Amino acid sequence: MATILDGKKVAGKLAEKVKEKVKFLNEQKIFPTLCVIEVGNDPASKIYLRVKRNLAKQVEINEKTINFDDDVKQDKLIDTIKELNNDPTISAIMVQLPLPAHLDQSKIIEAIDPAKDADGFHPYNQGKLWQGNSQVIPATVRSIMSLLNEYDIQLEGKNALIIGRSIIVGKPLASQLLNKNATVTIAHSKTQNLSTLTKKADIIISDVGQAHLIKEDMIKNDVVLIDVGMNRENGKLLGDINFQTCLPKASAITPVPGGVGPLTVASLMYQVVLLTENQNNG
Ligand code: NAP
Repeated sequence: MATILDGKKVAGKLAEKVKEKVKFLNEQKIFPTLCVIEVGNDPASKIYLRVKRNLAKQVEINEKTINFDDDVKQDKLIDTIKELNNDPTISAIMVQLPLPAHLDQSKIIEAIDPAKDADGFHPYNQGKLWQGNSQVIPATVRSIMSLLNEYDIQLEGKNALIIGRSIIVGKPLASQLLNKNATVTIAHSKTQNLSTLTKKADIIISDVGQAHLIKEDMIKNDVVLIDVGMNRENGKLLGDINFQTCLPKASAITPVPGGVGPLTVASLMYQVVLLTENQNNG
């Protein structure tokens, strides 16, 4: 029977660690503060932001949200980011994605000071990841690596298949799996015969956004399955992997909900603390 990789449990442990670190910083009169920039009123973003706000409160990180209307001008957004970069009371900045189509996401991310880049999407931080010496790791990637580490899943020499090539998950995750000596393949929407790749993989991480894309006849016995997908269908939250039918074949699997998702928010808070520590070292 597969081990269920319990993201909620690992998130609880990480949140405790973050809280302790925040307490230690507070004793030195240092107050980690995350500033979130939100554009418009996307309902999914509102839910994510509420979850982030609640956890920030729980671990005693200050959280501040700046909300702009849907039609905000790019220059105004960039000027605000520049002000936050220069504001010593702000430790970390994140821009809630997706942004409206008239805004150039890359330019906006590039405006964030890499030392305050909570999400780790800045090209400087993404480049450092590939050099193998970055402190800033995108929260979902940190969450996946923490789960694998917590459950002692061996990566060295394994065939790891990442499905999805976003800068948020797929590409930065590839760097981290390579650091752990896995042999990494990245699939995407133009990949031919996905199932020939999935059948060879020892570890599959799916970040696509298609409910039950991965089925039991596409995987080999004892595979490790990590599901990043969050797909709403008829009021239910479903992963990219068919949990029920793949469970008997897998050696380990993340549930959706309760897997990667909850740990991602805790990983973001951990990242805020790391940035704060770095800014106050020396
Ligand atoms: P995205 O940027 O649209 O990336 C999706 C990726 O999937 C793309 O690289 C795309 O390929 C690839 N793809 C699409 N159809 C495919 C197919 N049939 N076969 C193989 N690859 C395919 O999406 P995202 O923002 O990363 O989000 C993906 C999912 O993860 C969503 O359900 C989202 O809610 C969830 N998510 C969860 C977390 C978490 O913490 N749990 C965090 C982030 C995202 P191309 O590059 O060729 O288009």
